[in-house]
Amino acid sequence: MVCPPLETADDPCDLSLAEALSTTAARADRCVFFFDFDGTLAPIQDDPDAVQLAPGVLGAITDLAARVKRVSLVSARPVDFLRSRFPGVPLTLHGLYGLESQYGAGETVTYPPALPYADVIAELARRAERELPDDVLVEYKRLSVALHYRSAPELRDTVHAWAQEQAGRHGLREQEGRMVIELKPSVQRDKGSVVAEEIEGFSCAWYFGDDLGDLAAFRALADRRTTHPDFLGVRVAVRNPETGAEVAAAADLHLEGPSAVPPFLQKAVTAL
Ligand SMILES: [Mg+2]
Repeated sequence: MVCPPLETADDPCDLSLAEALSTTAARADRCVFFFDFDGTLAPIQDDPDAVQLAPGVLGAITDLAARVKRVSLVSARPVDFLRSRFPGVPLTLHGLYGLESQYGAGETVTYPPALPYADVIAELARRAERELPDDVLVEYKRLSVALHYRSAPELRDTVHAWAQEQAGRHGLREQEGRMVIELKPSVQRDKGSVVAEEIEGFSCAWYFGDDLGDLAAFRALADRRTTHPDFLGVRVAVRNPETGAEVAAAADLHLEGPSAVPPFLQKAVTAL
């Protein structure tokens, strides 16, 4: 149905895209669209708090949510942050790689196995502020802590060594992303398990992502295609100069950065 992963990023794979859109249209009531946030719907910035949606994203996601059964965000951000960027839009939100989720207008639910880690994560965030160089931006997110070195890329090894030591000492997991290393609970929860769980009962899913953490979600769609041959799973890489090659290599389709997402979605909405 959809073209296999591409060897080069230049192949637009147009014929398969048309086929994927017509199948999606026929299954709109059984289709879910997943999106990563940073680098996918919003350009990355030095200050994570300053990040805003790319122009046109809010309208495109709102229109899409009215046409398909479900639109879900799967992000390293907390649910509250994601909600603040999409006020009033009917979305399912998976924050902190699925450690917390909000379904529709309901309350935010925490993945129970992660709860015992809250104290050690809070203490770690305080220590990171004290022990790491000032150029490292420490983002405390209740059940994870992100160490951003975007403003000083030469600090990567320092941050990595510190994170590795803490992970070993406190039984945490490291998650590396674009100029960021996160420490999070050592529980079996990532974007792949979130997507695998949510696509149960759907016959069609699209996933848009830009970073290494999104590869697990791509794999979840590929696995579903293996076990359910009729399942339509489309992996869309939002390209970037940092991790773009690896993510693009695992995708069916490619878009050139967050600004390319709204026009693509409007085209898809028209087809739906
Ligand atoms: Mg991202």
